[in-house]
Amino acid sequence: MNNAANSRVQIPNEGDGLSPQYRNDAIEKLRKTNFDVLVVGGGITGVGCALDAASRGMSVALVEQGDIASGTSSRSSKLIHGGLRYLEQFQFALVKEALSERNLLLTNIAPHLVHRVDFLYPLKGLSERMYAGLGIGLYDLLARRKGSPLPRHRHLSKKRVAAKAPALNSRLNKGAIMYSDATVDDARYTICAARTAAGLGASIISSARVTGLTKTNDRVAGALIKCLESGQEFEVGCKTVVNATGVWTSEIEAHAGMRQSRVTASKGIHLVVAADRLNLKSGMILRTSTSVLFVIPNGDHWVIGTTDSEWQLNKAHPAATKCDIRYLLQTINSVIASPLSEEDVIGVYAGLRPLLTGESDTTSQLSREHAVTHPAPGLVSISGGKYTTYRVMAAETIDAVGVDQDRKLPHSKTENLPLIGANGFDTMTEQLQALATAATVSLDVTRHLFSRHGTRVREILELIENRPTLLDRIDPALPYIQAEIVHAVRYEGALHIEDILIRRTRLSIATKDRGANSAPLVADLMASELGWDESRIQREIHHYVTRVESELASHNQSDDESAEASLLTAGEIRGSFH
Ligand SMILES: Cc1cc2nc3c(=O)[nH]c(=O)nc-3n(C[C@H](O)[C@H](O)[C@H](O)COP(=O)(O)OP(=O)(O)OC[C@H]3O[C@@H](n4cnc5c(N)ncnc54)[C@H](O)[C@@H]3O)c2cc1C
Repeated sequence: MNNAANSRVQIPNEGDGLSPQYRNDAIEKLRKTNFDVLVVGGGITGVGCALDAASRGMSVALVEQGDIASGTSSRSSKLIHGGLRYLEQFQFALVKEALSERNLLLTNIAPHLVHRVDFLYPLKGLSERMYAGLGIGLYDLLARRKGSPLPRHRHLSKKRVAAKAPALNSRLNKGAIMYSDATVDDARYTICAARTAAGLGASIISSARVTGLTKTNDRVAGALIKCLESGQEFEVGCKTVVNATGVWTSEIEAHAGMRQSRVTASKGIHLVVAADRLNLKSGMILRTSTSVLFVIPNGDHWVIGTTDSEWQLNKAHPAATKCDIRYLLQTINSVIASPLSEEDVIGVYAGLRPLLTGESDTTSQLSREHAVTHPAPGLVSISGGKYTTYRVMAAETIDAVGVDQDRKLPHSKTENLPLIGANGFDTMTEQLQALATAATVSLDVTRHLFSRHGTRVREILELIENRPTLLDRIDPALPYIQAEIVHAVRYEGALHIEDILIRRTRLSIATKDRGANSAPLVADLMASELGWDESRIQREIHHYVTRVESELASHNQSDDESAEASLLTAGEIRGSFH
C-alpha cells in the first residue's frame, strides 16, 4: 500500500446494499429531490462519475436502462492496462495515465478485484527482440514513474519459452519477452463501485431509462425516466445531467437538440475456451496485421480476443458472427501446435467500444482517449476512453459539472477511496484459513468468494450460516455457489436471471450450455427473494433459454445484419411486464 492509504476516505458500512427495498426507496427519492447531479448510464464511466460526485459531497442519482454494467462494461477484454499497442501509435500520455491508474487500482482502490496477469510476447526474430524490448522497456518505465507493484519485463530464451508455453508451435519459437499487467472481472468491479457510491448516499437505479430531457429557461434541468420494471414514468430534477452513455452518447445529446454524432461504435468479440485446451503457463499477446490478440487467463478458462470492426446496428445487442469467431480461431491457430476448433469454444461475447469519431477510416486506428464536453447548459457529456482510466475520466467530468454550475467544488477524492471490500483486504488475506474454519466453509470456497467480494465475503458467509444449503454449487463444474445468487439480489441489484448468469457470475460464458441448465435453479432462488409467482418464474426461464438459443444461432450467421436479426428474436425481459 502506498502513502495514500493513510489519507483514505472512510466509507460508511451501511446503505450500500442495492436491495429491492433500496431500489423502491431510491425511486421515491428521485421523484422528490432536485439532485446536484443526475448521471445517465450505469457502465463504469457513469458509476465512476456518481462515485466521484458523491464523495465530493454532492447529491447524486444514477439511472441505467438495463442492469448495472450491461453495456460495454461487462464485455471488455478485462484488462487493466496501459495498452502496449498505443505506444506504437505514439499515445504516450494515454499509456502513462493508464499505467498510473493500473498501479492505483492494484494497490489502493481494488486489490481484491484487480489481479496481476503475466503475458508472453513471442518474438519473430532477433530484430524484433530489440524493437519489442525497447517498447516493453518503455512501458515498464512509464509505469514505474509512479511506482509499480508489478515486476519488470524479462527476456526469455527459446528453452524457457518452450517450458512456459508448450502449446506454441515449436517451429515458430524464436524466444519471447514476458511482461506483467492486470486483469479484472469488469462487471463485478462496476457493481462494486456502484455499491461504494450508494454507501456515500448516491441513488443508483437500474432498469430506468431516460426518455427525454427537461429544460428550464433554455437550461437542461432534469430528465424524463421510465421504470422498465413497473412501466411508471416520472420526472427527476437536477442542476446538471451527466451523459455517460458510451455508444448511446448521441441519443441523449439529441434530447437536448444536438444532431451531430461524436461517437463511433466498434465491435470487439472474445472467445472463451477451457484452460486445458491451451497448455500455457501465462497469458499471451500476439501481433496481428491491424492490432493485437490477447490470450488471457480467466479462472478455469482462457479468454481470447479481440476483433475491431465498425458496428452500426442495435447498440444493446452487438452480435458475434461466424466470420468473427473463425478469424480469432485462425489467428490463434497460426501459432499453436494443436489447433482449436469451433467445438472448443465454450463461450462467446461481443461488446462495443465507444470511440471518439476521428479522421481514420479504421476503428482500430481511432483514439482511445476520452472527451468531456459541455453540449448545452445543464448537460455534460463524457465519451470515449478506456475502462482502466474511468476514475480520471470521472474526476474531469465532475470538475466540468462544477464549471457548469459556476460552483467551486472540492477536488476529486477517489484516488484515496477504496471500493467496498478493499478495506482490511491485506489482513483478511492472511486470515483466510481462520475465516474458513470459523464459517465451516472450505478454504477453496472462501478463496473463491474472497477473490470476488474482498472483505465483503462476510455478507455471503452470513447467508450460508443461516441457510447451509446455499453452499451448494450452482453448476457442479464451476465454483459459483448458490449463496451468490441470494447475495446478488439482496446486495447487488440483480433483478432478472440474466443479471445473475451473465454479470454477477460468468456462467453464461463459462459453460457449453451458456448457463441455460442453471436457469431454473437461479429462478427458484430469485423467486423467494423477489416474490415471483410460478408464471413469472416460467417467463424468466423461457426468456433466458430463448436468449441463449438466439445467441447460438447468431454465431452461425456470416454477416452482422443476419447475426443481429438472430439475436433480436429473444427480445428484452426488461420492460416486458407491463
Ligand atoms: C471488445 C472490447 C474490449 C475492451 N477491452 C478493454 C480492456 O481490456 N481494458 C480497458 O481499459 N478498456 C477496454 N475496453 C473499453 C472499455 O470496456 C470501455 O471504455 C468502457 O467499458 C465503457 O464504459 P461506459 O460506461 O462508457 O459505457 P457502457 O458500459 O456501455 O455504459 C453505458 C450505459 O449507458 C446506458 N444507457 C444508454 N442509454 C441510456 C438511457 N437512455 N437511459 C439510461 N441508461 C442508458 C447503457 O445501457 C449502458 O449500460 C474494451 C471495449 C471493448 C468493446
